[in-house]
Amino acid sequence: MTMRVDAGLTPAPSGVPVGRPMPEMERPMPEAPGRRLGYAVVGLGQFALNQIIPSFARSQSSKLVALVSGNRDKALHVAECYGVVQKNIYDYQSFDRIADNDEIDIVYIILPNALHAEFTVRAFQAGKHVLCEKPMAVTVEECDAMIRAGREADRRLMIAYRAQYEPYNMEAIRMAREGELGTIRLVTSDHGRILDPSVPADQWRMVKSLAGGGSLYDIGIYSLQAARYITGEEPVEVSGYITSDRNDPRFAEIEDLVAFQLRFPSGALANLTSSYSTSPVKRIQVFGSKASLVLDPATEYERHQMMVKTGKEERRVQMPEGNQFAAEMDHLAKVVMENREPKTPGEEGLRDIRILQAVYRAAREGKPVLLSTTDAPTR
Ligand code: NAD
Repeated sequence: MTMRVDAGLTPAPSGVPVGRPMPEMERPMPEAPGRRLGYAVVGLGQFALNQIIPSFARSQSSKLVALVSGNRDKALHVAECYGVVQKNIYDYQSFDRIADNDEIDIVYIILPNALHAEFTVRAFQAGKHVLCEKPMAVTVEECDAMIRAGREADRRLMIAYRAQYEPYNMEAIRMAREGELGTIRLVTSDHGRILDPSVPADQWRMVKSLAGGGSLYDIGIYSLQAARYITGEEPVEVSGYITSDRNDPRFAEIEDLVAFQLRFPSGALANLTSSYSTSPVKRIQVFGSKASLVLDPATEYERHQMMVKTGKEERRVQMPEGNQFAAEMDHLAKVVMENREPKTPGEEGLRDIRILQAVYRAAREGKPVLLSTTDAPTR
């Protein structure tokens, strides 16, 4: 009997098990389901301990494998709770030895803002990919150096703009982009809270050399992000006002209340605020020619609420929330595995720092500042 076989394969007598060679694939093999990249978390503060480290349990492509901390006892305790082996605990001095640890693929930097640039560059020099908290860094020059170091090391840099991985914000972006609200004319967004000097995480936020700025750098960046990701445009002009009570010790070095406006090429405007002295708010509103949308809270860790109003009709939009922290960590793990660029690369963080610096300048000089759009991305 003649046996029909695929071209190029050696016919085998029936009944004898054989191993075929690897077929030629047109595309690279898909990643094995369940493959996870190893993260080292740098800085075991409030956000790392309460939000990020617990979220690894909800991730699909990421796992916690190493810790970097200035406090050995705390690191040992966290390592025991989350199953990190002791040899994978580093301090800020021994950090560079991560170069010898193949279990670590990605370094997640959750330090005060002024330390983001140094640890990003050191992580790249150790051959690792980087997820860096917002704001990306303190100055435009630092952002440039971080991007350059990533390119030189041929490693990915992603800024942890969690709202861009959060389902309600993603749905608002989809609705705005697909014209469901009509032409977008105005975005307003407010982010405020009371800065509390008794909380350790707020103590470095009052020190300009560590925080880089005040409410604008810390939470005004969410208002700015909202205006950019909802419109999908880059602003061409910015104006701003800042008021800070210099007799309040919290605001000896950094700014409190900021109101700033952006003008976009389409003619859309954004009216944005940030504050360290008002009761908490995290709100985004979008006004289109057909409908308006309110996301309030918009940038919480969970329990978002979204209403869409068309004429006199109002409807509530409900989405499965998932875990935005796991989603962003998995996004970077996946793009690294697939050799792609992340949705929120270093260039996205740099753009925000440029605009925030222009807000300070506009407020200082008391007149609008024109922005260059030459480096604007296509969305
Ligand atoms: P935090 O003070 O609780 O944590 C900072 C950690 O850095 C601490 O463990 C501290 O010991 C360590 N550290 C190292 N060197 C330090 C120094 N010289 N001074 C002070 N601390 C030092 O602060 P946090 O609220 O966790 O913020 C850390 C970073 O995470 C910031 O960049 C912040 O903007 C960002 N963050 C992001 C979100 C978000 O929703 N994406 C939320 C909170 C914080």
